Amino acid sequence: MVLNRIKNKIYRSIKKILTQIGFGVKCNICHNKTLRFGSDAWHEFVICQNCGSQIRHRLLMAAFQHTDDFNYKKIIENRTILHFAPDLCLRNFFEVKSKKYLTADFMAEGYSYDSISLNIDISMMSVLQDNSIDVLLALDVLEHVPNHLEALTESFRVLKSGGICIFTIPQKDGLDKTFQDNTFVSPEERIKHYGQWDHLRIYGNDFKEFMKNVGFNVTVIDENFFSQNLVNKHVLFPPILSSNPLATNYRKVYFGIKN
Ligand SMILES: [Zn+2]
Repeated sequence: MVLNRIKNKIYRSIKKILTQIGFGVKCNICHNKTLRFGSDAWHEFVICQNCGSQIRHRLLMAAFQHTDDFNYKKIIENRTILHFAPDLCLRNFFEVKSKKYLTADFMAEGYSYDSISLNIDISMMSVLQDNSIDVLLALDVLEHVPNHLEALTESFRVLKSGGICIFTIPQKDGLDKTFQDNTFVSPEERIKHYGQWDHLRIYGNDFKEFMKNVGFNVTVIDENFFSQNLVNKHVLFPPILSSNPLATNYRKVYFGIKN
């Protein structure tokens, strides 16, 4: 008992010293510093234990902080933001930085979020006027939406000219064409083919084309946009690749500009 306490104390002290002198990782959202992040069923050492951010969230924040085109000072400050299925780790950032922060979700059975501004389906946003939103975000949302192409069309409609949509989607590494078979309706079949019981498809590299087809000018941001130092420090790429064939090892953040 006493020995364990001493061991834990020594471990914590060493961990503190190592993180202070620059070893370890740092969340670029909540600034949590630790020797390494936590793990989930898909990947080891990718989740910030403090705010719950994952690679897609930190890639987005890296784009906000380190790119010119998508710098938060340019696209978030003084803007109206519409955030679907609002990721908890990002809410505070948008609340503080934006002019108006609207959250939205379609309350499907089994999901609940606190204090949502709008209970709407992203593929049917009739309560929103044309050209009314500066930035629309939906991170890992479209794989749950039956009519995902209509969701893209609707996103284009509600955005102002010059407005930006930001999407992430689970995609199978190296898959060219999005795979969907509407005969897969059981949770077991969906887990087997798409990786999760409530996903309706697994995306491929053609997602960019889906966005282009509705009129967006698309930029795809991944870890290659950032220095190796930043990638390692903020864990913008999995430290260990998942061997699961349905895993998204190569995360991308899709920015679509409505010109
Ligand atoms: Zn964090």
